[in-house]
Amino acid sequence: MTAFFSSLYVHVPFCVKKCKYCSFYSLPYDEDLEKLYIKALLKEIEIAKQLPHLLKTLYIGGGTPSCLSIHGLKKLLSSLRESFKIASELEFSIEINPKTVSGEKLDLLKDYGINRLSIGVQSFNDKELLFLGRIHNAQDAVRTVEIALEKGFENISIDLIYGIPGQTLKGWEESLHIAVNMHIRHISLYELSIEKNTPLREEILKGKFLLPSEDDITGMYEFATDFLREKGFIKYEISNFAKRGFECKHNITYWLRMPYLGLGPSAHSFIDRKRFHNPSDLFAYSESLQSGELAWIEDYRVDELEELREKIFLGLRMTEGITITQKCLLEFMKNFEREKLLTFSENRVKLTDRGMLVSNEIFALVLSHIDSCPVCKQE
Ligand code: SF4
Repeated sequence: MTAFFSSLYVHVPFCVKKCKYCSFYSLPYDEDLEKLYIKALLKEIEIAKQLPHLLKTLYIGGGTPSCLSIHGLKKLLSSLRESFKIASELEFSIEINPKTVSGEKLDLLKDYGINRLSIGVQSFNDKELLFLGRIHNAQDAVRTVEIALEKGFENISIDLIYGIPGQTLKGWEESLHIAVNMHIRHISLYELSIEKNTPLREEILKGKFLLPSEDDITGMYEFATDFLREKGFIKYEISNFAKRGFECKHNITYWLRMPYLGLGPSAHSFIDRKRFHNPSDLFAYSESLQSGELAWIEDYRVDELEELREKIFLGLRMTEGITITQKCLLEFMKNFEREKLLTFSENRVKLTDRGMLVSNEIFALVLSHIDSCPVCKQE
């Protein structure tokens, strides 16, 4: 294996309680499970540090990393710091949730060089938070941002969800107003998606709740785009808005398809043009590291055609767009120009704001063209 990576992701598989819309791999937090996880992770770090790397971005996500104990966090952070070669300008992010973070934990994160917090706020409306099954309320979220600012974190991002049953455009606007008044530098907006095997899906199938209409959801996204632009946020990706210079470098490596290594159960890696993932089970993950090898399960090798597909559904998400050199594909994509969904500047293709609203449909049509067109396959 020769590939070099500059981005590292660490998955923490614990949450206090499962939110009813969530399909990520996570377990209820438990002290003994934390010990098992940390032991396995330190072993994985020992193996992974031997791969060629120089870290420019490091991201601890989950799950809920902030529900780890102080002792567990110290072990994890000191092992990362001591084991990997780190560039002088490291973007070091961690996801935290209101209710599982204290001033003491924030001090610890700062001491270990974490310089970017991603806070799982989701909403500043208590009814919406209750509906989602979150363990915090709006006041907890505001207080968490305030404490983080007091502790000197300058690069704070929050997540917000729209399209929640019962959510109104007015309620959404209020959440956005609160967000921009708090000196945060980055906002990620996610449409609530109804994932398989989640309690939310069951409830919706039973007709317990109605999702907002397509028009309402479009209205919420359009309002957010206009409002955040007005407040000085740049939309640099379909769901992500940042003050200049505060774009998330780590996530950009995913969209630009640069190599990265993922550690922890269910973490994904892209190394040497191959996509891998670790077992989505803490015990299987821990067990497979006993062999002294990484717990990788290979998904697929990215050949040229796959590279083109990935460029469409990952690269095109970014507002700077992608360069397409294949003539046939470029011609096909020009069909979307007439409907003002894509713009073209020579070979550079970008989604318009309108295109971003229907990006999944555009990606599906372009991918299906690539799969069925003999010319594209040859170019
Ligand atoms: S806190 Fe995040 S990872 Fe955990 S259950 Fe809720 S949405 Fe999922």
